[in-house]
Amino acid sequence: MQCFVIRGLPIIKEGDDIASLVKSLFDFQDGDVLCLASTIVAKSEGRFRELKSYHPTDRAMEVARKVGKDPRFVQAVLDESTEVLLDQPFLLVATRFGHVGVNAGIDQSNVGDGRILLLPENPAGSARRLRDNLGKDCATIITDTCGRPFRSGVAGVAIGWAGIAALRDWRGEQDLHGMRLEITLEAIVDEIAAAANLLMGEAGDGTPAVVFRGLKYPRSGEGSVFMEQDKDVIRPRLKS
Ligand code: GDP
Ligand code: MN
Ligand code: MN
Repeated sequence: MQCFVIRGLPIIKEGDDIASLVKSLFDFQDGDVLCLASTIVAKSEGRFRELKSYHPTDRAMEVARKVGKDPRFVQAVLDESTEVLLDQPFLLVATRFGHVGVNAGIDQSNVGDGRILLLPENPAGSARRLRDNLGKDCATIITDTCGRPFRSGVAGVAIGWAGIAALRDWRGEQDLHGMRLEITLEAIVDEIAAAANLLMGEAGDGTPAVVFRGLKYPRSGEGSVFMEQDKDVIRPRLKS
């Protein structure tokens, strides 16, 4: 597998055509996997918000007291969420599109002008649009840097993807000793996102686009890295 960091992208503004920008800087081939930081996808989609445009409800005020955050920021998080899983010591929520993350993935870094930046409204749709506009048969993965339960440190995860299956199904294949695997579904979009995130950096690097070439991956398949609620044994316990 070869990894390419696309250099030379500008600060992204609302309305910027990211597919055209990356195509002008990189020569894509069929089978490439393009990873994009959600930050630039969100910027191009105009997901900037002014904190002062939020008018916190009583609920937001109460949560804000618990987490020690600006009530307007908490209101922004609640507006992007379908469920609050933790409201102390930080705000862990399920987003409208199924991803669970701290503060609904709303960023204040790499945004500028004292604004906040929401995640793309529908990252799967964004990934599809970007893939359709690349002009080659590529896969796209939209990444975000996230904390993980039970583990220290942040890592990249996939929040939207297109042209690639989220999970590689190993069931039915044999291990070294001829035993058939029965349950292994490998979260390949998260593994690729973590590698991409490693190359992107987190601060002022200015490298939100990474391409992997020569990676064999399933183009389509059922399933998602967002766990179905009725299969999730941790989520109900968080709320008890
Ligand atoms: P996130 O992981 O999606 O929340 O994004 P980060 O804020 O961690 O940024 C990931 C990478 O993208 C870093 O290298 C940033 O410097 C870079 N980045 C963020 N916004 C922009 C932008 O508008 N233009 C460019 N060229 N790079 C950006
Ligand atoms: Mn982020
Ligand atoms: Mn990041």
